[in-house]
Amino acid sequence: MRIAVVPGDGIGKEVIPATLPALTLLSDAFGLDLEYDVFGWGADEWIASGVGLPTGAVERLSKDYGCVFLGALGDPRIPDMAHGREILLGLRRELDLYVNHRPIVLSDGVIDLYRENTQGLYVGVGGTVGRAGVVNVAIDECVYTRDTVEKFVRSCLRRLSEKGRRKVTLVHKANAVPNTGGLWVDVFRKELGAFPEMIGSEEYVDSFCYNLVRDPTPYEGVLASNLFGDIISDIGAALMGGLGLAASASICPETGFVLVEPVHGSAPDIAGKGVANPCAAAMSVVLMLDHFGHTEAADMLRACVGEAARSDAATPDLGGRGTTDGLMGTVLALLGRRL
Ligand code: ATP
Ligand code: MG
Repeated sequence: MRIAVVPGDGIGKEVIPATLPALTLLSDAFGLDLEYDVFGWGADEWIASGVGLPTGAVERLSKDYGCVFLGALGDPRIPDMAHGREILLGLRRELDLYVNHRPIVLSDGVIDLYRENTQGLYVGVGGTVGRAGVVNVAIDECVYTRDTVEKFVRSCLRRLSEKGRRKVTLVHKANAVPNTGGLWVDVFRKELGAFPEMIGSEEYVDSFCYNLVRDPTPYEGVLASNLFGDIISDIGAALMGGLGLAASASICPETGFVLVEPVHGSAPDIAGKGVANPCAAAMSVVLMLDHFGHTEAADMLRACVGEAARSDAATPDLGGRGTTDGLMGTVLALLGRRL
């Protein structure tokens, strides 16, 4: 399988290359046949040529690759992130990556959070009404189609069931947002019928957030719309102890194509200093390995990243004085000991 590696901008250009030796080591040791090519898409290319996602890139990706491993997109020289939106939204839409999986890794378990990735309040339907440059009315429409909600919910339930998870919570706000909320509740109840082994529950997003922060332990699988999933995943990152470990996978269940990336951005304040924490990038590799069924390799890398993050090699954001390369060097040494 071929992987398209896109380091992107800022610390993406540091943390992504730093994790590639671990990917190669595991691929060789487990005979996984994973190979990669590096693509230079990002702010520099956008500024030089005005191109974010080159013409034909998506076709090439879907023909020759099974995965994109993305770093971060963001650059102070491009305030509205036009290049990032073109690249990320382009890939998401064209490759139909409608399931976004964001595991919340806690000391006593993992919550599998799934966020719908293509519709809802992010469809860009709306507008403003005003006079003399002053906006008096602003509208953003929340759009969901039954088709998208159905295939999202079904795919998530199947994933959770296959992982042996038994509890699933739908997060919504049907009491205040009855149209799309009602559609989600209806679809969730109907789709659950095909998974008798799963125990479903429904929570309003406000009380869910309250409960999650007070005690996350009862949750196993969580399904949420685009906006709610976005917000919950940041709460999840905070529960994990920061952005340093959080990774996400955007999946097209039909083709199996996956885009994995750290949740953090380009972090311009620390870019170029060699001290960015590479653990979230390494956890993106874990998600990639898991996605393609290489469970043993994924578990080994996950364990080594966790151990390295708690060691003397920890980077400043983790309270240490280590560097990006030092921390990944420790991960490699720990992997070498186990292989
Ligand atoms: P972007 O515009 O690309 O989202 P950002 O400035 O919002 O960039 P984030 O990556 O979202 O940056 O993170 C916010 C802050 O958290 C950063 O400025 C940085 O100080 C810290 N941070 C984020 N990721 C890391 C990391 N991997 N290692 C160390 N610190 C990090
Ligand atoms: Mg940011």
